[in-house]
Amino acid sequence: MSFRRRSLFRAVAAPAVLSLAGCAAGRFGGRDPFSLGVASGYPRADGVVLWTRLAPEPLAADGSGGMSPEPAAVGWEIAEDAGFTRGVRRGAVRTSARWGHSVHVEVDGLTPARPHWYRFIVDGVASPIGRTRTAPAAGAPVDRLRFAYASCQQFEQGWYTAHRHMAAEDLDLVVFLGDYIYESSWGNLHVRKHEAGEPETLAQYRNRYACYRGDRDLQACHAAFPWVVTWDDHEVDNDYANDRSEQLAPREAFLARRAAAYQAFYEHMPLPAAMRPSGPDMKIYTRFDWGALARMHVLDDRQYRSHQVCARAGRGGSTVVDERCTERLDPALTLLGETQERWLADGFRATPTPWTVIAQQSVMATVQRPDAQGRKRWWTDAWDGYPAARGRLLGALERNRVRNPVVIGGDVHACYVADLLADFEKPRGAVIASEICGTSITSQGPGPAATDAQLAANPHLKFANGTARGYVAMTIMPKLAEAALRVVETVKQPGAAIRTAARFAIEDGRPGPQIATS
Ligand code: FE
Ligand code: CA
Repeated sequence: MSFRRRSLFRAVAAPAVLSLAGCAAGRFGGRDPFSLGVASGYPRADGVVLWTRLAPEPLAADGSGGMSPEPAAVGWEIAEDAGFTRGVRRGAVRTSARWGHSVHVEVDGLTPARPHWYRFIVDGVASPIGRTRTAPAAGAPVDRLRFAYASCQQFEQGWYTAHRHMAAEDLDLVVFLGDYIYESSWGNLHVRKHEAGEPETLAQYRNRYACYRGDRDLQACHAAFPWVVTWDDHEVDNDYANDRSEQLAPREAFLARRAAAYQAFYEHMPLPAAMRPSGPDMKIYTRFDWGALARMHVLDDRQYRSHQVCARAGRGGSTVVDERCTERLDPALTLLGETQERWLADGFRATPTPWTVIAQQSVMATVQRPDAQGRKRWWTDAWDGYPAARGRLLGALERNRVRNPVVIGGDVHACYVADLLADFEKPRGAVIASEICGTSITSQGPGPAATDAQLAANPHLKFANGTARGYVAMTIMPKLAEAALRVVETVKQPGAAIRTAARFAIEDGRPGPQIATS
């Protein structure tokens, strides 16, 4: 079947692409239709998603990217070598203004577990060449999975030097855990500015992505590896929960805003068609296996969550609460929603791989922050606002005897390494899983006074650093997982060097990360 489809594309598409080559000067007038770069994502054993979006004028005020309403024919090809001579598959797709002239090609029929190179062509203009990688075949023995994960890249607060360094690493995959864009301008010591104020409409969200995606370091990292992504709050609005905004906007108005933001997210990410949004709904949680070595669950803890409890009067969003907020313990509270929670527990059942990675947005361990009187307090936006839901997730891991669960996260602009306990009130109790929450790419984090106090108040926390900006590079091998906290010297000047600030290890069959200070 895949052979027939390929021949069809060859017969129909190739001449169409060639015939357009004559009008190169016409449509784009010398401007680059690939100003937002290229990307790939969601690698499978036999395929991958290829992405670009035509935007010769990326910040055009109407959100069109400078494209006319007519469809454009975009040719694509992918090969097993950078010279495009071996194992080449090609085809063509039609863009539409409805989806911002974004291109999402789901290629199949590829060879498992190997690098591939791809490019697009429109009106005789070729895109930059991207490199990607297919996953190992189902059940195939695999020596290692090496991936980096990152989150929180407020554009104004710093340069994306970390992405440039990430692009130079030897990785199979990048996992991005949310706050890819920020809807608002905030933070100290800006090095550059957003293209406009806070987005509300589709055109405005498109331009926010175009602003971020215009960055060459970010483009380089997309072009270097396949990405798998989830979102957090800032892709829509700070601290939103399901249908409730921080400002308590009318529900219908907020859902319209969420629809605009979700569509722009889809248009700018290398997502499979199955994730295409329908109005304000977009199912992005998913899982995949990396051969016989690792299973990764990618969660969405924003779209389906219960509203944060004990919000300030007249406000939505998060706050810091103490024991007097007893609503926090309500077992009805959910972070994933009932459907996703059940889907996740089902995915834990009879896990075929020795390693399970749970990729999600926020910090999962409890991080209580005592007040001056020593009274325990918790931040309600992370799992601490939903302790019963956290208990159910850890309980499902334990019940299904999932071997080597590793939780990765973002959101908090700090690296936290923790034992995930069956009961956080019993520090000597059973360790269910290991957590290594990454730091931010640029967004400012908590200072040493705050993280030192948290370390002192939370015995299951083994490491905390909110001052370093960067990402975590993780290598999973059959008997050992190793993680390196990779940090740039500064995000306030371009071109900073990178170094490893700390190393963590998790041994097969021994839950809980170990710290190896370098
Ligand atoms: Fe953030
Ligand atoms: Ca966040």
